[in-house]
Amino acid sequence: MKGEIYKDYRIIEHQYDVVVVGAGGAGLRATLGMAEKGLKTACVTKVFPTRSHTVAAQGGISAALGNMGEDDWRYHMYDTVKGSDWLGDQDAIEYLCREAIPAIIELEHYGMPFSRTKEGKIYQRSLGGMTAHYGKVPAQRACAAADRTGHAMLHTLYQQALKHQAEFFIEYFALDLMMVEGECRGVVAWDLAEGTMHVFRSQMVVLATGGYGRAYFSATSAHTCTGDGNGMVARAGLPLQDMEFVQFHPTGIYGSGCLITEGVRGEGGFLTNANGERFMERYAPNAKDLASRDVVSRSMLIEIREGRGVGPLKDHVYLHLEHLGSDIIFDRLPTIAESAQTFAGVDVTKAPIPVIPTVHYNMGGIPTNYYGEVVTLKEGNPDYVVSGLMALGEAGCVSVHGANRLGSNSLLDLIVFGRAAANRCAEILTPHGHVAEVPKAVIMTILDRFDQIRHANGEIPTAKLRDKMQRAMQKDVAVFRTKETLKEGLESVKDAYLAFKNIKVFDRSLIWNSDLVETLELANLLACSMTTVASAYNRQESRGAHAREDFPLRDDVTWMKHTLAWVNSEGDVKIDYRPVHTYTLTDEIAYIPPEERSY
Ligand SMILES: Cc1cc2nc3c(=O)[nH]c(=O)nc-3n(C[C@H](O)[C@H](O)[C@H](O)COP(=O)(O)OP(=O)(O)OC[C@H]3O[C@@H](n4cnc5c(N)ncnc54)[C@H](O)[C@@H]3O)c2cc1C
Repeated sequence: MKGEIYKDYRIIEHQYDVVVVGAGGAGLRATLGMAEKGLKTACVTKVFPTRSHTVAAQGGISAALGNMGEDDWRYHMYDTVKGSDWLGDQDAIEYLCREAIPAIIELEHYGMPFSRTKEGKIYQRSLGGMTAHYGKVPAQRACAAADRTGHAMLHTLYQQALKHQAEFFIEYFALDLMMVEGECRGVVAWDLAEGTMHVFRSQMVVLATGGYGRAYFSATSAHTCTGDGNGMVARAGLPLQDMEFVQFHPTGIYGSGCLITEGVRGEGGFLTNANGERFMERYAPNAKDLASRDVVSRSMLIEIREGRGVGPLKDHVYLHLEHLGSDIIFDRLPTIAESAQTFAGVDVTKAPIPVIPTVHYNMGGIPTNYYGEVVTLKEGNPDYVVSGLMALGEAGCVSVHGANRLGSNSLLDLIVFGRAAANRCAEILTPHGHVAEVPKAVIMTILDRFDQIRHANGEIPTAKLRDKMQRAMQKDVAVFRTKETLKEGLESVKDAYLAFKNIKVFDRSLIWNSDLVETLELANLLACSMTTVASAYNRQESRGAHAREDFPLRDDVTWMKHTLAWVNSEGDVKIDYRPVHTYTLTDEIAYIPPEERSY
């Protein structure tokens, strides 16, 4: 279809060995790795690479370097398995924690400007759930560049990708995967500046499109976190995994949702209620304010619910760092001081920050193995590899975070599996090799859907429908869940899902049309929301971030398994399961069997 016109779309064809969709930490690490291996690589991104949400990461990136006390990758693995509430796949977690060390050293050699200890080593801080000796003593494991770790990392990776001559297609919006007989053969993207349509045929497509925090009304994530890759996968008839596990970060600024990093508590900050009491001492006697995020978020909400919240509505709590002194604050937490001033009008050297649990991270996503290859349940095989498709970063579900992610393990996930995917592609693809044809009908179907949405002339404006979905998710698929709230959520999210057929797009232009971009994003968010609420309704136990008041206990006999959810165009969700991988890769560490999870 070279240079062809279809309807009023000019189609431009490209051929690559690999097309990476997304230029956050995951996409950039994969892109640079693929290019370094001699594979002809394109990176397609809807925002400028260094504006990806990774840029906002504050706290750090974990690796058991042991620069600030004793540490070992096995302790890191134990903490991650426990943090995941035994839903994480232990082969993948072993890979993550072992590879963390060389991956960080590599980042350092790429030029990442880490903060330093007096001896010149990489500075490491403590974050929630980090211990040495298998839960016995606290550990400092998060490698940090002040409170701007993601910023430092993203700029480093982008420069490396440019150095290796990867080709970037910036401000291109990927629409859908080109699937032929169950195999992915490329992706179609819309150039937001020129209004042209781009057909990228490739041996491999890598989805690194980030999370879907914007399915909720209040989230720490950027407005661009709309689960586009998850939406594409759902439309391709593939399942999404463990979508019920949505992380609420304990310390979003009350009112704005802006994140205050866990690093604040890692540096000695703590939470108090209306009585000035350090309440975390009651819920997590050992780890206290540095228990894992699901535990701290629930404890805060119990305090508020029992009438010990602060403020006129008694609906939030305080985070203190005044006692740390301005030197530590301005050296290690400069951005936090600025955000607290801007978003809460608080001078952190003098007063506490008002905080509330806020949606922060999606443990669920596109199921993959630890090479980054997308897997599905097919013909009884739960690890069936979908040919030509990979998923990485927050869009993917390896699963190393299981039911709850530990702070600083996401940035690590991006680079470890970004690198693993590049190594895998070097093994299985031929540089400048054969790229399969795609029947015209496949491309036309994608353009027809786009055309239909572009000309949609129903009754509901995009912003209104998005608001309806976000409020339903916020209210009914929250930190604490019951059969009743989830049933209500199922109904209202499904209403919103079906109401998309009646959407109204006001702007029909093909150039810089944000109304249309937001409508396409909303379709993706709706697929994420629908699978999230249905998976949450289905799971009758409490595990990690999924806290069912009607099923308060973890049930390993029935529920130690990954949820798979397929959603069709009518919003019906089919649920099935994959077993959790209860084996390790080497005999350097044995499988860690389930225990009671206390901090
Ligand atoms: C405020 C904040 C602080 C955090 N702090 C930490 C921390 O300290 N440590 C830690 O480990 N984790 C942290 N996290 C989590 C972590 O930052 C994210 O999970 C991670 O950065 C996600 O990276 P990613 O590469 O998967 O996606 P992103 O960085 O979100 O990038 C997504 C990319 O996909 C592209 N894209 C999306 N859709 C399309 C489309 N349709 N077409 C083309 N391109 C598309 C975007 O342009 C973008 O380049 C934090 C998260 C937030 C929100």
